[in-house]
Amino acid sequence: MRQAIEKAILDAKLNIIPVRRGCGSWECLCNTPHSVPFKVRGKCGSVEIILIPAPKGVGLVAGETAKAILRLAGIKDVWTRTRGETRTTINFAKATYEALKKTYVIKTPDRW
Ligand SMILES: [Zn+2]
Repeated sequence: MRQAIEKAILDAKLNIIPVRRGCGSWECLCNTPHSVPFKVRGKCGSVEIILIPAPKGVGLVAGETAKAILRLAGIKDVWTRTRGETRTTINFAKATYEALKKTYVIKTPDRW
């Protein structure tokens, strides 16, 4: 388990992606990049994660695996919603990674 998490973190490091941060929460208008700029969703296997912008001070409301990756991405406050087998660490990590990748999609997904 521990090794799986470490591998996930390593993978995340090896696949450095630009993560667009922001303050997408309308409950917090501080304008500093402490959260995600908008809601993003990532999927891998049966696992799905949705990252939701959170106001300052909320922290990372996420499972341990997602937390580790979000921390690496420099995100400090975020809410998450997950679906599927989040105990499958690698899929959970990849889903989180996919979600972060979407912060750089210019057009906000319209299929919410
Ligand atoms: Zn803010």
